[in-house]
Amino acid sequence: MTFLDDLDRGLLDLIFPRDCAVTQEPMDEGSRLHLSDAGLALLPRIFDPRCFTCGHPFDGWLEGERTCPHCLDLNPAFHRAICAFRAQGPVRTIIHRIKYEKSPYLANDLVAAAIQDIAFRRHLAGSHLVPVPLHRSRHQDRGYNQAERIACALAQNIPGCQWSPALLKKYATASQTRLGREERRRNVAEAFEINPANSIQPDVRYVVIDDVLTTGSTLHACAKTLRDAGALWVDAAALAHG
Ligand SMILES: [Zn+2]
Repeated sequence: MTFLDDLDRGLLDLIFPRDCAVTQEPMDEGSRLHLSDAGLALLPRIFDPRCFTCGHPFDGWLEGERTCPHCLDLNPAFHRAICAFRAQGPVRTIIHRIKYEKSPYLANDLVAAAIQDIAFRRHLAGSHLVPVPLHRSRHQDRGYNQAERIACALAQNIPGCQWSPALLKKYATASQTRLGREERRRNVAEAFEINPANSIQPDVRYVVIDDVLTTGSTLHACAKTLRDAGALWVDAAALAHG
């Protein structure tokens, strides 16, 4: 399905010249297929200082490691999370297209933009990436898992990175979109399990990958599943902070 998606897109590119996903202007030649330099400049990046735990930006300068109101009650099973963008404006639009509008190919360009953030790239270097899984039924409906597409693109572009579908989702859960913080946490608390095709190595640094970090509940539940299975060091990362 992934190959066919990309093949379809490639055939369409020949017939209809590509426009930038942000500016809607025709694309110039370059390494990115759907994100122009002008579009890249409009993405709402997160800069330091940012929360050590969830990656949310702080306004102003702070010294030392600090947590923020977004993750004060989270007490996450992951050590540190980082995000490259705020889930606003064009980043929100691109992620919506990746997830809900059959445009998984846009993940490659958003990943290419994200790893221009040196802190984001360093956080992932040399790690084993584990995408947040979709339940089998949703995976079949969508045709792909956007977190897998992101993890795959990251692993292809960051030295020493690899990825595997080390987690499975045991049952379908209600969409997190309209749930509050505590409801989100309960909704996904026991939803994940280790993929029996994978073994968890205590000496490997795992990084759980998702498209958006909102409350951190999903990344926490995934990290807890990995740690309960013996992983000693689990971090997290998302392209955007909601
Ligand atoms: Zn935080």
